[in-house]
Amino acid sequence: MIPHTAFDGYTLIFGVIGSPITHTFSPKMHNPVFRKHAINAAYVPFHVNPNQVEDALKGLKALSISGINVTLPHKQTVLKYLDDVDPYAQKVGAVNTIVNKNGRLIGYNTDGPGFILALETECRTTVQNKKCTILGAGGSARAIAFSLAQQHAASLTFINRTLRTAQELAENISSSHPTLPIQCLTNTSSDVATILSDSDIIIQTTSVGLNSTDSPIDNFDWVKPNHICVDIIYLPSKTTFLKQCEQKNAVIQNGLGMLAGQGALAFELFTGIKEDLSTFKRELNHD
Ligand code: NDP
Repeated sequence: MIPHTAFDGYTLIFGVIGSPITHTFSPKMHNPVFRKHAINAAYVPFHVNPNQVEDALKGLKALSISGINVTLPHKQTVLKYLDDVDPYAQKVGAVNTIVNKNGRLIGYNTDGPGFILALETECRTTVQNKKCTILGAGGSARAIAFSLAQQHAASLTFINRTLRTAQELAENISSSHPTLPIQCLTNTSSDVATILSDSDIIIQTTSVGLNSTDSPIDNFDWVKPNHICVDIIYLPSKTTFLKQCEQKNAVIQNGLGMLAGQGALAFELFTGIKEDLSTFKRELNHD
């Protein structure tokens, strides 16, 4: 293992940019894994104001920073300053990982694939031919939905407070996956319980429940033991949505899985090393 104090002229620098950034869990995840693999590297948070994203990316090149993750609110903004963007990230319209390849900045998105990796690893299921329902239609729902479509889900349903936002997302996905059945409804629709009951995988992606006991839905009568219910929120570790689903014996997963999954895939892009999701999860669970 390389101790923190061993940084020298060969140390590779990685990091995460965002605003705010003080809450980030990414250094806690990546630094121990660099040490585990005896990689002389450091991963640090960088606060970048929204009006300084271009300067920050120029700085990556000037300082030979090897790679960064990108968090809110910069995931879309960075796109226009990159030298190349992976086709999936281009489709999603958001980048959460940038690799500096010999002075060229290449953008990727590991959020959706990280979600799938966590679902497959921890819930022991695949997405293929599964009816998937997403609560929410924001940025994370978008990344997840494109990955579900790519993994040949049987159908996608968006349940969102604002119907138009869900419909726009559905139109976007349909343009690259024209045969995938997609429907949209508002969370006040009388069909919500029937749709949820008929789904295989239900993914809660709204911000309702973040640091609170609120839930985006009140009725949980539809939950059955064969349902897989995921909430991508990880604070609290068990939202009201997850608690209610657990009470009905559904398989549940919180947002630490997706966080660890996107981290594991970003680490692979940074280093070429495939490390188990469980390693990243363990680091996230350390005090
Ligand atoms: P966005 O702001 O892009 O989307 C928010 C979504 O929540 C929209 O669908 C919005 O609906 C809905 N929403 C917000 N407030 C309400 C409300 N009061 N009632 C009903 N619906 C509401 O956020 P993100 O997609 O970026 O993030 C969403 C959550 O996911 C956050 O809690 C974040 O912490 C978590 N997250 C977890 C990650 C992980 O790795 N585990 C990664 C990224 C995010 P509308 O369209 O009507 O406004």
